[in-house]
Amino acid sequence: MKVYIKTYGCQMNEYDSERLAQSLLEDGCTRVQEAEEADLLLVNTCTVRKLAEEKAFSLIGRWAKMKKQRPDLIIGMVGCLAQHLQKQGFKRSPAIDFMAGPRAITQVPKIAKQAGCGKPVSEFGVFEFGQGWNPKYGERSVTAYVDVMEGCDQFCAYCAVPLARGREFSRPCQDILAEIRRRVASGTREITLLGQNINRYGYNLPDKPDLAELLYRVAEIPGLLRLRFLTGHPKDFTQRLIRAMAEIPQVCESIHLPLQSGSDTILRAMKRGYTANDYSELAQQLRAAIPGLTISTDFIVGFPGETEENFQATLEMAEKNLFHNAYCFKYSSREDTVAARLPDQVSREVKENRLARLFRELERSALNIRTSLVGSRDKVLIEKPDIRTKQRLQGRTRTNHIVNLEGPREWIGKEIEVEITAAKNWSLSGKAMQEV
Ligand code: SAH
Ligand code: SF4
Repeated sequence: MKVYIKTYGCQMNEYDSERLAQSLLEDGCTRVQEAEEADLLLVNTCTVRKLAEEKAFSLIGRWAKMKKQRPDLIIGMVGCLAQHLQKQGFKRSPAIDFMAGPRAITQVPKIAKQAGCGKPVSEFGVFEFGQGWNPKYGERSVTAYVDVMEGCDQFCAYCAVPLARGREFSRPCQDILAEIRRRVASGTREITLLGQNINRYGYNLPDKPDLAELLYRVAEIPGLLRLRFLTGHPKDFTQRLIRAMAEIPQVCESIHLPLQSGSDTILRAMKRGYTANDYSELAQQLRAAIPGLTISTDFIVGFPGETEENFQATLEMAEKNLFHNAYCFKYSSREDTVAARLPDQVSREVKENRLARLFRELERSALNIRTSLVGSRDKVLIEKPDIRTKQRLQGRTRTNHIVNLEGPREWIGKEIEVEITAAKNWSLSGKAMQEV
């Protein structure tokens, strides 16, 4: 079977799609880059915002038309939205042949075969981490994500992730280390460990390793140049973790630390477990321990009950030139979450207005941060050709600034000393300090 996979959503979904592709390739399928060439069409879905749900169904709508011409096409919906909708998905689009949740990803080859026999199949099964990435099937890349835990127990009031991905559980250190060793042996230089609230790594494993211990052990793997992790939750940072980040040479000077709102009233309603002041103090502590640390963040505007005054508190946090990168979202009401039942839902116009104002402020401060780097030198790990201008290369500094520069393809996978020549809104341009 020829399989086409479309992925929506977060880094965790990208990782899941890789595992999904691997399971199918091991089963004898081949992967194609165009839906028109495939016999099996898969969409790995996201349930975090309504927009991602709409995109998945509109894609399936297009595939349904193809299926009218080719009734043997098999269409599967996998991932978070499939888990959330379960069998309702078949009602939403009768073209869907099977549904599989994030925990049933490795069962997809079996489910697809059953679905090929003509009746709708669904499985939301128990997740097993299995052997992880296999270089024989997986795509080799300079940077890679590695899942270290699944699920989330935080139940932030707005969030559908705990409903779709289920309860937290961690992958044993040995499995993670084995996967990273394989990746590094195949040429990967930078690893990002993934978990929804990764600070809670390990607490339900028998010997209770924590994230700090995992970082120390991963750093022992020879050949690994850079190490990052996602997503840190501001309420769960331990001194031990901060020390590990400061001490381990491979751990990069950059962290993604979602703030969500600058208003304590809203943070409380969101059930985030910290105040804006706690967040600022943590940021200060991290920066004192890790010189040059950059912080990126997520914001949600228009959470139910958010007043103009609450939003001003968010703007104030954005004005502090704290964030070199930020993702801003309009609050999107998700079925079965606590926030969906709250009164005072904010209108779409107000949300759009606040989003635009917040974005402008964040863009201004990010540009300030980047402009201050012009003329400085830094090491850039070259990742890939620049997508827009194929002659140029794209890489990142340890502080997670994207840098575009001229250079030969042979530099991909290498760390190159670069002088920063210009700052753009969300990236930098640079010039290599060595001969091209
Ligand atoms: N586990 C991570 C990321 C979860 S989803 C964390 O806790 O940070 C990624 C981002 O999507 C969140 O940080 C949040 O900003 C946004 N998000 C989640 N649910 C949302 C919703 N219902 N509406 C709008 N944005 C949402
Ligand atoms: Fe969602 Fe909160 Fe869990 Fe992140 S920590 S996945 S925002 S519930």
